[in-house]
Amino acid sequence: MNKRGILLYSGGLDSLLAGKVLLEQGIELIGYHFVLPFIAPDAELESLVPSKLAQQIGLQLKYIRLGKEYMALVENPPHGYGKQMNPCIDCKIYFLRYAAQSLQKENASFVATGEVIGQRPMSQMKHMMRHIEKESGLEGRILRPLCAKKLPPTEIEKSGIVDREKLLDISGRGRFRQMELAKKYGILEFQSPAGGCLFTDVHISKRVKDLFDFCPDYSMIDVYLLTIGRHFRLNPSAKCIIARNERENRELLKYQDCADYFFKPDFNGPCVFVRGRLSFEDQTLILASIVRYGTLREGNNVIVQLRPITKILSIPNTKITDEELKKFLV
Ligand code: SF4
Repeated sequence: MNKRGILLYSGGLDSLLAGKVLLEQGIELIGYHFVLPFIAPDAELESLVPSKLAQQIGLQLKYIRLGKEYMALVENPPHGYGKQMNPCIDCKIYFLRYAAQSLQKENASFVATGEVIGQRPMSQMKHMMRHIEKESGLEGRILRPLCAKKLPPTEIEKSGIVDREKLLDISGRGRFRQMELAKKYGILEFQSPAGGCLFTDVHISKRVKDLFDFCPDYSMIDVYLLTIGRHFRLNPSAKCIIARNERENRELLKYQDCADYFFKPDFNGPCVFVRGRLSFEDQTLILASIVRYGTLREGNNVIVQLRPITKILSIPNTKITDEELKKFLV
């Protein structure tokens, strides 16, 4: 066993503190940052907020992009969901298993987390922490530096790799001790607990559920696009995404090849990305929505259909109201 560990790192205060406590002891740490599928596929991971936050404690990071295998778990989590479509218990087991399988490759002896007993309703209760540990295959090799003294000594502490005396005994939901430690260590910035995980967001969760219910052949681009635009389910086989601003127009255009239909106005207005099959009525509704959210110029205006084939379409006579559109909103 050597003095090297993997830290599950989210960018939240607890994982930053857990990292700092171990780095202070001279432990070599590598932070594993799991990148949720809502982060743009072309994002520069080194520029993400958690990456910048890690610099405060001098933590080296590795990024693991979560893909289809992870989404299959979100779709059918053996331990169920939290309040929204957040499968926190299975998500943690997944991260820990991944880290467990990487121990040898990283030449590391243990996995550390920023967990604190009793801080979260389910996944950080003592019995659930033990269960998660067992399920991940890491029994005795998960170190929780912030609450270690409230737990029986792990193999890592017993073998002297980590000095138990320098670990902490925080428990419960209060944040006072963490805030004090942040001050002491000069950690000035951190993400909120759950790090803004969009699986806990009520609106995004509705879209995730809609995706699972109606789009069995979804791609990771479809998952990413759940964060972009307004989403309307037109019928069980078709959903359209209508951009809300120029940035979203650019984003939808970037992935137009993944759409079954794609519409772009020649006037100031939203692009529309469609997955599925459109009836004539659906298409009329989409064109009317583009007019509803756009600003027609004086004179002639058209909408270009870019997929599945390029066509120039006229502006429909039909108008659509917000009330009508609301019926389709996801
Ligand atoms: S909040 Fe999100 S990232 Fe964190 S454990 Fe739950 S599902 Fe996973």
